[in-house]
Amino acid sequence: MSEEKPNPEQNEDVHLYQKLADRAAEILQEGRKTIDEALKKAGDEISAGGEFTREQAEKISAYLRRDLNEVGRKLKQTRDTVINAAEPHRLAAGMQSGLAKLLHTAADVLSEVASRSEKVIEFHTGEVTSPGTLTCKACGKEMSLKATVRIPPCPSCHKTVFRKSY
Ligand SMILES: [Zn+2]
Repeated sequence: MSEEKPNPEQNEDVHLYQKLADRAAEILQEGRKTIDEALKKAGDEISAGGEFTREQAEKISAYLRRDLNEVGRKLKQTRDTVINAAEPHRLAAGMQSGLAKLLHTAADVLSEVASRSEKVIEFHTGEVTSPGTLTCKACGKEMSLKATVRIPPCPSCHKTVFRKSY
């Protein structure tokens, strides 16, 4: 993937996404919380730490929940494909992505999100999302995301709405 000039705000959003995913995974491991409860608790803790505002935490938490829902929607296809897409060749380096950690954390996670996520979810430029393939709804151009990123405009037609696959 071509490296664009680092954008502090973008890096901060991506960092927060990873942080929320990591903390939510830990919370899920600790006890019998639902994903929503774990995400809320993670957001509360992180915003209480002062590094990020509650508004930031809620915005990024919504992206993370959306990604989980989208993963759940794809569950019937194949769980392994999704997990592999979430951690492309990074396990060896010990750099498991936040989403992949969440997926591995609880066996119930995928069935929980699968049950409530049936409609196709749109992804928009400026949102943060986990690795996968985004397809431009306007022109069909595919963008392969190898890491958690803030979504750029379509490189082909510059539109801003995408579907996601793995
Ligand atoms: Zn396009």
